[in-house]
Amino acid sequence: MAASQDIIKQLALIKTVIEEYNYQYYVLDNPSVPDAEYDRQMLALQTIEQQYPDLLTDDSPSQKVGDMPLPDFKQVTHEVPMLSLDNAFDRESFLAFEKRMQDRLKNTNEITYSCEPKLDGLAVSLLYENGKLVRGATRGDGRVGENITANVRTIRNIPLTLRGDNYPQRLEVRGEVIMTRDGFIKLNKTQLQQEKKVFANPRNAAAGSLRQLDSRITAKRPLLFFTYSLGLVENEQYPLADCHSARLKQLSDWGLPLSKELQVAEGAEACLDYYQHLGNIRDSLNYDIDGVVFKADVIELQKTLGFVARAPRWAIAHKFPAQEEMTVVQEVEFQVGRTGAITPVARLEPVFVGGVTVSNATLHNADEIERLGLKVGDTVIIRRAGDVIPQVVSVIIDKRHKNARDIVFPETCPICDSAIEKLEDEAIARCTGGLYCAAQLKESMKHFASRKAFDIDGLGDKIIEQLVDQKLVKTPADFFSLEFVQISNLERMGEKSAANLIQSLEKCKQTTLAKFIYSLGIREVGEATAANLAAHYCELEAIKHANMESLQEVSDVGAIVAQHLINFFAEEHNVQVIDGLIAAGIDWPIIEKIKIDTLPLSGQTFVLTGTLEQMDRNAAKATLQSLGAKVAGSVSAKTSCVVAGEKAGSKLAKAESLGVKVINEQEMLDLFSQLSGLA
Ligand code: NAD
Repeated sequence: MAASQDIIKQLALIKTVIEEYNYQYYVLDNPSVPDAEYDRQMLALQTIEQQYPDLLTDDSPSQKVGDMPLPDFKQVTHEVPMLSLDNAFDRESFLAFEKRMQDRLKNTNEITYSCEPKLDGLAVSLLYENGKLVRGATRGDGRVGENITANVRTIRNIPLTLRGDNYPQRLEVRGEVIMTRDGFIKLNKTQLQQEKKVFANPRNAAAGSLRQLDSRITAKRPLLFFTYSLGLVENEQYPLADCHSARLKQLSDWGLPLSKELQVAEGAEACLDYYQHLGNIRDSLNYDIDGVVFKADVIELQKTLGFVARAPRWAIAHKFPAQEEMTVVQEVEFQVGRTGAITPVARLEPVFVGGVTVSNATLHNADEIERLGLKVGDTVIIRRAGDVIPQVVSVIIDKRHKNARDIVFPETCPICDSAIEKLEDEAIARCTGGLYCAAQLKESMKHFASRKAFDIDGLGDKIIEQLVDQKLVKTPADFFSLEFVQISNLERMGEKSAANLIQSLEKCKQTTLAKFIYSLGIREVGEATAANLAAHYCELEAIKHANMESLQEVSDVGAIVAQHLINFFAEEHNVQVIDGLIAAGIDWPIIEKIKIDTLPLSGQTFVLTGTLEQMDRNAAKATLQSLGAKVAGSVSAKTSCVVAGEKAGSKLAKAESLGVKVINEQEMLDLFSQLSGLA
């Protein structure tokens, strides 16, 4: 059939697209689209070429392997070409592959297969002469690769010398260099910290680690090599085995690493079981595999079947469903979690990936959005592996439309409109409306009623959930105005339990200031900090109005907790809730200040600086406070004494310049033992 102009144009376009994808992937190690998209384009190309054989040319991407080697490397000519593999994406195409082999062999006998994981890394050739590793090379375009000898020598499981003495004098071993998954995560973390390039996936990280010129960098990367075939073999002293699987065993005896998952299977059904099995364990492996490879095991059969342009006829890669796909970010919304964390979520054009349809992906936080450089309307790569929640891996910048728009973080909580806080060293932004915010309501109510807070007997989690769902309580103050019928009508609540709950609510109204502060659920203010705040300030009003400097004088309170306290009390909604509680009758005994003025260090201000060797800094601060001293964060003329530990810096210098008394750690400990009897 003659091809129309449209078909010819379409073919040319697909070829250009694939050539570009190849360049990004093979030459730059920086794929611009997911493999699934590449495979779709390749399938479209092959389909047209099959339909119109006249259009098939030698230089078509369907006939080529990889791409040209990088000019930075010396070139290596492969004496035996390094080919690729044909793909099967489903059961039918795998069975069709077997049928093609049987037809060629004119024989319907079951074929024995070597079954191997399809490691997702980089094909590498290792040449051994007289048992010594003399050359390492990439596959390149299959004919000419890059000389990466210095780099492969640094890979820990590649033997520099073969074991035994029965190997061929010249032996070329082929296999895959991969990066472990945990190594990849660690590497990307370090790259990010050092503001260096982050790799898209372990395959690219492995390729990027090998295809650069400094072998010291390769040596630091978590790379492993697994062998899967032989290339050139010369001057064998002993005959090689006559099956591929047995040859692999020989390679293993000579010290070359083999995958643990290798198996031999009789017939197609056994192969499909193997495919199923590897698919099941795929996520538990510490390296990526993107399918399995089936090879006719008998070498004589391989010879009879031979090769086509870019792949052997006796092997096939049966691919797993894609774990990466591309789609469009239609909108970015902000969710408020139970702890107030504000999480940006990408609403996606639904896409089938990792076995399910995905329409949302978390974007974690503002830093992640910045790292991705994401805009609304962008085409992105989504990854969903195993049970892990879908992630946005990267943005396909080439596909960005001009109407893509920036993502704007809300300034107030999208649920309750309270202020959002984001501390300097924290990636996560949070709503400060704790007790007021509907998104946080159930959790803060449960915290309020819990044993260490108001300890409301009979007010369990399930009851709280019903009360919130039925909108009977909107703030904790509402607990105290609940009526008997409202409670007794709840599920699992009889009249007796309702009466008991009313009683315990009444009883709980008498509390302590420490418990009251703890019950407010202020971030990072636990039981001990709440008690320290109560002891230090004695009054709620004083805590509400304390500034950063004053708060940091409290035992246990550093800059972060002080900031949380300030943000909490600055939020009008929280103040309303507190007022509501007090109006409901919550009360606590007055704390006497008496002791404080009579303690041995009363009226003195200490500053701790440098590293304390014998006593934890928090403990030193607490002891000073228990002796009546204030502990401040900075030195001024009003400072009574500076305790200078090891490597004390500017605070010590300032104390000296102001003539403030300075003591060392030992002198502080001596002071403690001297005064402890007086406190
Ligand atoms: P391939 O990766 O599909 O299969 C051949 C390769 O598999 C071999 O060269 C070898 O490196 C590897 N392999 C792993 N385990 C093996 C085993 N046990 N036995 C033999 N070989 C084994 O083919 P390819 O030609 O390297 O690349 C084509 C594939 O690469 C595409 O299907 C696509 O997934 C991906 N690709 C993606 C892009 C992109 O832009 N995302 C571009 C080009 C290629």
